Amino acid sequence: MEYSIKEIAEIIAATYPKLKDSTISILLTDSRSLSFPEQSLFFALKTKTNDGHKYIKELYKLRVRNFVVSEMSPDFEKMKDANFLIVKDTVRALQKLAIFHRKRFNIPVIGITGSNGKTVVKEFLYQLLHTEFNIVRSPRSYNSQLGVPLSIWQMSDKNTLGIFEAGISQPDEMERLQPIIAPTIGIITNIGEAHQENFISIKQKLQEKLMLFKDCEAIIYDGDDTVIANSIEAACLSHKAIAWSHTDSEAPLYISSIEKMAHQSIIRCTTLGFDRFITIPFTDDASIENVLHCIALMLYLKPTSVNNEARFTKLEPVAMRLDVKQGINNCLLINDTYNSDINSLDIALDFQQSRMVSREMKRTLILSDILQSGTLPKSLYKKVADMVQRKKVDRIIGIGKDMVTFGDTFNIEKEFYNTTTEFINSSSFKNFNNELILIKGSRHFHFEQISDLLEKKVHETILEVNLDAIVHNFNYYRSKLKPETKMVCMVKAFGYGIGSYELAKTLQEHRCDYLAVAVADEGAELRKEGISIPIIVMNPEFSSLNVLFENQLEPEVYSFRMLDAFIRETEKRGITSYPIHIKIDTGMHRLGFELGDIPLLCERIKGQSGIVVRSVFSHLAGSDSDEFDDFTLSQIELFTQAAKALEEGCEYKIIKHILNSAGIERFAEHQKDMVRLGISLYGVSASGQKGLHNVSTLRTSILQIRNVPAGSTVGYSRRGKIEHDSRIAIIPIGYADGLNRRLSCGVGEVVIKGKRCPIVGNICMDTCMIDITGIDAHEGDSVIIFGEELPVSELAEKLGTIPYEIFTSISPRVKRVYFRE
Ligand SMILES: *Cc1c(COP(=O)(O)O)cnc(C)c1O
Repeated sequence: MEYSIKEIAEIIAATYPKLKDSTISILLTDSRSLSFPEQSLFFALKTKTNDGHKYIKELYKLRVRNFVVSEMSPDFEKMKDANFLIVKDTVRALQKLAIFHRKRFNIPVIGITGSNGKTVVKEFLYQLLHTEFNIVRSPRSYNSQLGVPLSIWQMSDKNTLGIFEAGISQPDEMERLQPIIAPTIGIITNIGEAHQENFISIKQKLQEKLMLFKDCEAIIYDGDDTVIANSIEAACLSHKAIAWSHTDSEAPLYISSIEKMAHQSIIRCTTLGFDRFITIPFTDDASIENVLHCIALMLYLKPTSVNNEARFTKLEPVAMRLDVKQGINNCLLINDTYNSDINSLDIALDFQQSRMVSREMKRTLILSDILQSGTLPKSLYKKVADMVQRKKVDRIIGIGKDMVTFGDTFNIEKEFYNTTTEFINSSSFKNFNNELILIKGSRHFHFEQISDLLEKKVHETILEVNLDAIVHNFNYYRSKLKPETKMVCMVKAFGYGIGSYELAKTLQEHRCDYLAVAVADEGAELRKEGISIPIIVMNPEFSSLNVLFENQLEPEVYSFRMLDAFIRETEKRGITSYPIHIKIDTGMHRLGFELGDIPLLCERIKGQSGIVVRSVFSHLAGSDSDEFDDFTLSQIELFTQAAKALEEGCEYKIIKHILNSAGIERFAEHQKDMVRLGISLYGVSASGQKGLHNVSTLRTSILQIRNVPAGSTVGYSRRGKIEHDSRIAIIPIGYADGLNRRLSCGVGEVVIKGKRCPIVGNICMDTCMIDITGIDAHEGDSVIIFGEELPVSELAEKLGTIPYEIFTSISPRVKRVYFRE
């Protein structure tokens, strides 16, 4: 759908200096996902942590000519052929445009909200109904104040059904999303603790969520959840309510029984006097609940659609996120093997672009035919070819009849195959090497066969790292600081054990100012992989001066011996003004200059031109504990004096910083010019802050389950004494993976399906045993060692250590898997 820029200016009530004719089909809020500059309208958004106006210049260079801004700058006036629409609030403007767009369509629209399962219900509904309707739906989980308007923008004349998610994290947000989605049918999946921090109670959050359903003609919900049922009544929505229930045989959809078998469940339900049996390929409660919502919805929207039993048995699990996995021959794989519509292709290509590890790596796309697009194939594949080229894909492997037919449209290295099998059997399949491969296909192409073959099979224990959580935590601290305060992210010791490269890349994307590593080689690795922001080396060795200079790494300097060696080296190489960072000892009594050293230090610095002091800093010894607050304040005072003396002596401005994570939480008023964020970035708060997200999950799976009778023992030295008949599971993680042996014999626990299971007997080198008596667990089930449900701080406490040690003890043989939501 297209709008003229003039129409848009009117819809969002913008003022403008002048307007040149232009046609807009794409709304852009993130400068990094630009694909089609001429047709894009960029909304310069201001958030707590960033300002989109900064990217206008760069976008203009890339031929974007249409912008919505909240303030003009002289720079913009120089862009003579560009349109600037000026509004008070750019987010509101985007929302207004979406509201206008939504009003043009008179089709059923399903609005889904709730704490969990929104995306799965949406995708299940798509799977169940796409043969009867031309469906437009939110891409992935675009359910926020920005995601919702962008989702609605995809609506077009050919659609006959819309399915959109709405998520909120604060009061008032739903009020704004409601007119944008304007759902005619509502689904509330469930209500829980997620995003609770800004609400007084679950009830308040629920009331907010129900606001989405204000103008719905039907509302679908779990009638057995009394909190939801009562709120629906209180909100005077009962007359539209369609509850499903396990207990109330009068409910519109009565579930009389659910029989769970090894790989499927049979749902027996009664509606309008009819009994039905529906078989689904899931046995877990969450999936069953999600399907029940879908059945209720289908009964309301199109009762005959429920009669097609086969649809339910063919339901496929929904991949919730994009993973990067290690593949064979030095390849990395991004798996998105469950759909291939053009919107999700755009998102996946962005993700691929952002995960490039090094310039030498080739970008490869394996893509199936795009089904159910409703666009003529010729123009569709032209669009795909353009997109692929703009996103800098080097090579495409197309699979499917349409791909073969329209292969000529692509102007990059290319190969085409009629079927997945044909490709797997081809000689080309064996030749992947050093490529970042995005595997993206409609489900019936079964691309999981391709990813299974390309995936490197290693140890089954993984450390899962949520890159979105890193970004969240980074922004959480940023929002606590003044906008001009700079941030150093500490990625020393392989990013606290999590993997420094993926982290550094993510932080660089989010415009962190500095990274800090422990030794020069760590910094060199990051440079090799394309990290270009400044990097401080905390413990530079004399032997590594070469590595420092060659990689533009900035050393911490803590002694005269070091300073002199460094200055001499700059002179020898003819380098001037090389940035260094001076460390002051204010009470930690580790490395650093003392206050008394400053006069001599200034003298030494003034007499040379090889180096320049970029920053001066000190480190707090006990910022996490109020027991030491007097001491901390004295450290800060001493540092302030020393830094002032150094700055005066050098006669130029020097960046000053002293706060680490706990310091930021507890002494933000002393933030100076910069702060150093460490452990909190990784999701552990020193002072019990609630707003952080869990970043890493150490996860494994059950290898084998055995019944062990009372009186036997389990494991080495017969330490695991079995008192009652028990079910014991064996999991492939041992002390060689970093599972501390002191957690043996019931000290440590793991989590399976939300339940705690104690470790039995001594932990072995590569395995250990856990007691799963009374838990519905099967071989292959996932086991969590630490993560959201079992915080790493709890483990640390049991071991009498700190989370830092647990993170950094995880063996390198444990594969790190990075994902974004
Ligand atoms: C590791 C380190 C930090 C980060 O400390 P956290 O407690 O993890 O926030 C800050 N400054 C210096 C000098 C460090 O070595």
